[in-house]
Amino acid sequence: DKKLVVVTGTSSGLGKAVTKALLRAKDYHVIGAVRDLEKMDVVAELEGFDLERFTPMHLDLASFESVKKFSKELDKFRGDRPIDRLVCNAAVYQPTLAYPKWTVDGHEQQLQINYLAHFLLTSKVMPMMTDSSDARVVMIGSVTGNDNTVGGGGVYPIADLKELDGLELGCKKPIAMMDGYNFNGAKMYKDTKLALMMTSNMLHERFHRSTGIAFSSIYPGCIAETPLFREKRPWFRKYFPIFMKYITGGFVGEEEAGTRLFQVVHDPKCTKSGVYWSWNGGPREGRGDALEKGGQIVGAGGAGGGWESIYENDQSDK
Ligand code: NDP
Repeated sequence: DKKLVVVTGTSSGLGKAVTKALLRAKDYHVIGAVRDLEKMDVVAELEGFDLERFTPMHLDLASFESVKKFSKELDKFRGDRPIDRLVCNAAVYQPTLAYPKWTVDGHEQQLQINYLAHFLLTSKVMPMMTDSSDARVVMIGSVTGNDNTVGGGGVYPIADLKELDGLELGCKKPIAMMDGYNFNGAKMYKDTKLALMMTSNMLHERFHRSTGIAFSSIYPGCIAETPLFREKRPWFRKYFPIFMKYITGGFVGEEEAGTRLFQVVHDPKCTKSGVYWSWNGGPREGRGDALEKGGQIVGAGGAGGGWESIYENDQSDK
């Protein structure tokens, strides 16, 4: 029987690329959770997705109601089969917004789409995963959520959730930011990525032992060619890939990024929980630093390229 994989945002970029890799592997049935089913149909047709092993389902992460509806539909679809993988991939990037845009639920858009809705989705899907012999939840993070790399710390603003004062107050209109400070679109995006990575660690600590689910986060590499950067000024879109390729060496094509994510989803070596996977084929400068205090560095880099877990929680099962 095929393993059931849920991926959010399969109609574009990394989500589309990892779906292609999963469908090539033939062991998986992919449920593509997308906000625009019509677009998904067109993309699936153009990319030649095998519809025997791909099921698109509607999910608008900008609405909690939609997350709940999707979860019910997913539960019905799976019947008595477990969900084996959940990949929280969809995101929006709105660095140039001067004012926050609010969702129907009253949260800033990037916050809800990238983070809050994935948090809810994960809590809904986890109970469907416990019967799987190899359940994995993978959060797509970013070095921008990490303040010790070129993409994260070198480019301001820096992700910083401070004491989470905004979140504690509900993070609802007019409070946009999780730290409760003034709105900054670029920082918001980075904060959501940091929050996803921290949540992955927290889920590992609280639920790995009792559920057997492996929780991890990854940085796929900078995929400067995906539409994620659509809100950036044209000169940025033109030169950023070149900058990433020649200056930082961190550039990665969409296909390659999809293959990397596929490895974390598929590879028997990637069943470890509580880790942040980093690709060691590229520069690793500073990436060995733990995400938060209490972490330890494992699996020192090596040439040749491949995933390595660079951050691991104290309580990780070895
Ligand atoms: P894309 O913009 O190509 O893909 C984002 C996907 O999210 C799209 O499929 C989009 O749907 C979907 N999406 C957006 N809003 C919603 C919503 N409200 N409900 C459901 N789905 C939604 O970007 P990438 O492929 O580059 O990004 C994928 C992931 O990789 C993101 O988590 C991003 O943060 C991360 N990442 C990207 C990097 C990069 O360099 N590009 C670097 C590091 C991390 P639609 O197709 O309808 O637009």
